[in-house]
Amino acid sequence: MFTRSRRNLAYWFALSMGSILVLFTGVSYYLGVQGQLQSFDQALQKKSKAIAAGATIRFYQGQWQIEPEDAPWMSGDRLARSSELVYVRWYDKKGFLVRFIGLPAPLRLAPVPEFQTMVLSDRQNGAQSTGQWLRQVTLPLLQNQQLVGYLQVAEPLTAMRESLERVRFFLALGLPLTLGLIGITGWFLGGVAIQPTRRAYEQLQRFTADASHELRAPLAAVLSNAQVGLMAPEDGVQQRLRLEKIVETAKSMSALIGNLLFLSRQEGPLVPASLIRVDLMPLLRSLTEEQAEQASMYGLALTAQLPEQTVTLSADPDLLRQAVTNLLSNAFKYTPSGGTVQLRLTTTSRYAVIQVQDDGIGIPSADLPHIFERFYRVDTARSRQTGGFGLGLAIAQQIIAAHRGRITATSTLEKGSTFQIELPLKG
Ligand code: ADP
Repeated sequence: MFTRSRRNLAYWFALSMGSILVLFTGVSYYLGVQGQLQSFDQALQKKSKAIAAGATIRFYQGQWQIEPEDAPWMSGDRLARSSELVYVRWYDKKGFLVRFIGLPAPLRLAPVPEFQTMVLSDRQNGAQSTGQWLRQVTLPLLQNQQLVGYLQVAEPLTAMRESLERVRFFLALGLPLTLGLIGITGWFLGGVAIQPTRRAYEQLQRFTADASHELRAPLAAVLSNAQVGLMAPEDGVQQRLRLEKIVETAKSMSALIGNLLFLSRQEGPLVPASLIRVDLMPLLRSLTEEQAEQASMYGLALTAQLPEQTVTLSADPDLLRQAVTNLLSNAFKYTPSGGTVQLRLTTTSRYAVIQVQDDGIGIPSADLPHIFERFYRVDTARSRQTGGFGLGLAIAQQIIAAHRGRITATSTLEKGSTFQIELPLKG
């Protein structure tokens, strides 16, 4: 599923970026060609105008006559190599050829655009330059605002074509290579983009699998107790025991479902409407009083170190109570009888700090980074004995994160553990 999404992302990325690249390259190439041609035309026009200026035009026998100059670049009827011109042709105003230098010229001037690109054919040029590209300019010659004839000049496009060929060769190599690179980048970016979704999906899948697994065992216990109770007629005491077992298991399932619902609902920071100003001091004091009985049932001493002054912050008091209760009940569960559990409240400049410290069994350092994960239990057998699902710390962490706070744990095996909650005082 994720590979397909990644492939789709890479495909669309490569397609869009590739189209943009091809379009951009095409337009740049076209503009480049147009630019080069324009400067070529300008230069050709300048040369032609210089040739036109060199011709003598005089009125003779009732009409204008054109007498081309015999410049040094015209050697006899040939164009000197340095002139770079293929031919120069003069026509009178009726389009009849007056004179030409270079390639043989048609006797009549055919109607042509001012600038024209053409390819030399055998007939025009003789075999050796066949296929040569030329740019031709045809200029009207004016004398006193009157048309007296035409000048036609052509220059080879060889140098420009060669440079364009180099560009095309570079593009033909570079474009597929860049498209390939875009494809690889798309695949890589697709992987990065899909990563959070994949992680969330895997987490959800694991969570669902764990939750179903946790519910299956008590459900089976309820079912088997009920079925056995229905099959054989039992005495009242036995039946009562069986019903009590069913009630106990159903209660634990209900607690688990409650926890699961809590975890699925309470995602993200709390909305301001659910926050009130809370003084942590009385809240923790009443919690200590409530939990003292529980602690004594475990044979533990619960002490509280609370400051004299008030410590107020914006919070949901019920959720905070739940988070601290989870830490306290863990401390009770994982501290052997005779131990001590301490609840402390201190403040720093920006945070209220709540600590729950016990001198219990501690947590192995390999497990410490995972204890806030959902359904994570250090010692499954022991946790099951204590009735834990591995959700207490995940819930506490989710509550504290919803208050934009932080929960951390330090522990030494067989010495004890300290859980610390930091809550921002402002907010
Ligand atoms: P559980 O319901 O199993 O206690 P928690 O999420 O509350 O689940 O705790 C996860 C695991 O972290 C527990 O299974 C336990 O092994 C370990 N743990 C939590 N608190 C303590 C503690 N105070 N002392 C030792 N181990 C603890």
